[in-house]
Amino acid sequence: MIDGRRPTRRGDLPPAESRRPRDSAGAVLRAVLDHGPIARSSVARVTRLSAASVSGVVGSLMERGLVREVPEAAGPPGIGRPHVPLDLAADGPAVIGVHIAVPRITVSLMDLRGRIVAQIQEPHGSTDPVSVIGAVAARVAAIRRRPGARGRILGLGVATGGWVDSPNGTIVEHPALGWRDVPVAAALGEATGLPVRADSNSRALLRGELLFGRVAGRARESAVHLFAGNVVDVAFATGGIVHQGPRSASGAVAHLPVEGCREACSCGRVGCLQAAVSERVLIRRAMADGLIDRPEIPALVAAAAAGSTGAVELLLERARLVGRAAALLLDLFDPEVLIVAEAGANQLPESLATLRAEIAAWSSAGAVVERVVCPSSFPGAVLGVSGGAVALDQIYASPLDLQARLKAS
Ligand SMILES: [Zn+2]
Repeated sequence: MIDGRRPTRRGDLPPAESRRPRDSAGAVLRAVLDHGPIARSSVARVTRLSAASVSGVVGSLMERGLVREVPEAAGPPGIGRPHVPLDLAADGPAVIGVHIAVPRITVSLMDLRGRIVAQIQEPHGSTDPVSVIGAVAARVAAIRRRPGARGRILGLGVATGGWVDSPNGTIVEHPALGWRDVPVAAALGEATGLPVRADSNSRALLRGELLFGRVAGRARESAVHLFAGNVVDVAFATGGIVHQGPRSASGAVAHLPVEGCREACSCGRVGCLQAAVSERVLIRRAMADGLIDRPEIPALVAAAAAGSTGAVELLLERARLVGRAAALLLDLFDPEVLIVAEAGANQLPESLATLRAEIAAWSSAGAVVERVVCPSSFPGAVLGVSGGAVALDQIYASPLDLQARLKAS
């Protein structure tokens, strides 16, 4: 991705895609996301589409307000300047992301570049699905009333832990919330009138990494994403495609046995990875030891950053446990990148170092761990990003189907 807003020139571009894209409008929109401001001729080169196809697709994208022409920036003398560069519309269409966690809901307004424009985060009083979905719908309505959101919302994405059947839009099972077969997409679609798509936490965040993450280029080759919050789950992608599985059940690593853990797990056994590293367990221990005064993971990370030895030790212990699971994943998949979304490793250098050291000790990856294992691109913001990434992923996959989807809903 090119920093700043200067137009992309030929020499800035990576080699063209090796395959012809499946959805040409999606490929053009992604090229503008990756390289904008960018001339039509450069879009054609990156996507391997003909100049005529690019021109036609750009016209349709401009009609829908997804892309627009920007004033040509003055380049250094002697260097060819691109003709009427294209970029994403900064105040153009947006999506709403919803994250449902054990203690709280997060509703965010996100632009096409994956930037959070506004966010509401609130604890839910009851974990009853009907009341939580009602509360989510009310927050979505509140965010849509904000001046910048009016008439811009293309879709709603929902992300949550546990087992989410994305094609059917249901939360099949979320043990920590006590949910089973909750038709979240249908319920929110009815309440909001928006097209809704749901997915698991880790798959949602991996979609965000593939679109606009710090290592998106490498992640599009192959990537594994490990999320460790209250819930632990995994997602993997090859060639930019996130694996869903025929029952959307891929990525369940919650019950991987962990040596020496005596915590009871929601599955009824003792010593599962999710029980060992869950935020609730960590927060309970930190509160009991007087390390934090409010029961939140950011408080523990802040205490560790401020030098609390007890807080650092708790987070390093978690990094070691997560590292063992990550080592297994690295050997199993041998991905180009392994992205770990864990609060400590994402925000404290010593946690990331411990995580990488543990992975190196338990996997056959050795020296490549340093390059392959990356922290999340969204430190401190994973809950705000995940739901929006689910909606954006669908828009970038086939942007010209949007109108049909909006009508159908
Ligand atoms: Zn278990």
